[in-house]
Amino acid sequence: MATRRDFIKTTAGVGAGAALGAFPRSLEGAPNVIVRRVTPTCVASGNGLAAVSRAIEELAGGASTIEAVVRGVNLVEEDPNDSSVGYGGLPNADGVVQLDSSLMHGPTRGAGAVAAIEGIKRPSLVALDVMRYTDHHLLVGEGAQRFAKSMGHPIEDLLTESARQRWIEWRARLSDSDDYLTPAESAERIGQPYRRPGDFGDGLLDSHDGYRPQGTINCDIVDVNGDLSSVTTTSGLAYKIPGRVGDSPIIGAGQFCDNDVGAAGSTGRGEAVIKTCGSHTVVEYMRQGMHPKDACLEALRRIVHVTVEERLLGEDGRPSFNVNYYAVNKNGEYGGAAIYSGARFAVSVDGDSRLEDSAYVFQRA
Ligand code: ASP
Repeated sequence: MATRRDFIKTTAGVGAGAALGAFPRSLEGAPNVIVRRVTPTCVASGNGLAAVSRAIEELAGGASTIEAVVRGVNLVEEDPNDSSVGYGGLPNADGVVQLDSSLMHGPTRGAGAVAAIEGIKRPSLVALDVMRYTDHHLLVGEGAQRFAKSMGHPIEDLLTESARQRWIEWRARLSDSDDYLTPAESAERIGQPYRRPGDFGDGLLDSHDGYRPQGTINCDIVDVNGDLSSVTTTSGLAYKIPGRVGDSPIIGAGQFCDNDVGAAGSTGRGEAVIKTCGSHTVVEYMRQGMHPKDACLEALRRIVHVTVEERLLGEDGRPSFNVNYYAVNKNGEYGGAAIYSGARFAVSVDGDSRLEDSAYVFQRA
C-alpha cells in the first residue's frame, strides 16, 4: 500500500477531468494535499448495488463526490420495497417512521446530519442542506423537519401499507396481557390462514422470537483525484423507542470521511457503533497504514472486546448481534467486514459493479 508520502506528490496532471459539481473549484481541491490519479471506486452496504453504479455514473457526469453518493443512496431511500431506509422504512414503536442520515464531503471538510426526522423521503438531501446552508452539523426531530420544509423538501406520509401491517403484527405480539389479539387470533377471527411472521421478501426477518429488523445504506467514494465523501441513511432499528437515534446520523459513528486518508461507514447494531466511535475508528486505523479491510476488522474486534453485557452475548460468549463496516482509502483500495460471516457489500470500480463477500471476525455457527 502506498504511504501518505505518495499522496503528497506535486504532479502536474492533477485536476484533469476533476469533478467540479456544485462546489467552487477553490473549495473542491484540498488545500495542501495533492494526489496522483486514482481509479474512482465506490463501496456500499449489500443493498447498495444500484447505488454504487449510480454514484460512479454521477461522478463520470461531473458530479462532486458528495453529490454522487447522495444521488446513489437516494435510489434506496425512494424505494418503497426497502423496509430499512427512507420511504417504506419500518416505523418506531408508535407506528411513525423516523429517519436518520449523515454525510461528509472530504475536500471541503463539510459535514451535515439529521436525526429522528419525520415525513421526509430522502433525509440524505436534508443532511446535505444542513452541510451547505447552515453553521451546524446535526439537526433533530421537529426542528430538522421545519428546516427541511424551509428548504423546499415536501413533507409526505412515509408509512407504506406493508410497513404498517408489519408494525401492527409487532404490536400484537408484544404482550399477552394487553387488549390486542395476537396475529393468530385475529387470523382466526377473520377466517384467514395465519401467515407466520418471517421473511417478508426483503431479506429482513420480522420480530418473531425477539428479532428486530435493522437495515441501512452506507456509501463511500473516492474520485480520480483521491477526493472522498461518505453518506449513511436509514429508518434505523424497527419499532424503536420514539426518539431513539442510531449510529447513522452520528458523524464518526455511522460514517466518517477524512480527505487525507479515507472514508468509512457502518450498518448493523448502532448502539455498538456509537459506543466505539466506529467509522472514525476505521479511518484512524487506515491512517496508521492498514488496508481498508483490515481496518474494518480491527474496529469490529474493538466492538467484540467491549461487548460485555450478558444480554448482548450468545451462549458462546460472542455478540448476539452483527455490525458491518465498509471503507475506501485515498488510493482506491477498499474493503468490507462484519462480525459474522455471510455478509456482502457492494462495490463499483473500473466499470464493474458487483457484490463481494465481507471479511469477518467469526464464522457463523
Ligand atoms: N445502524 C442502524 C441503526 O442502528 C440500523 C442498521 O444498520 O441495521 O439505526
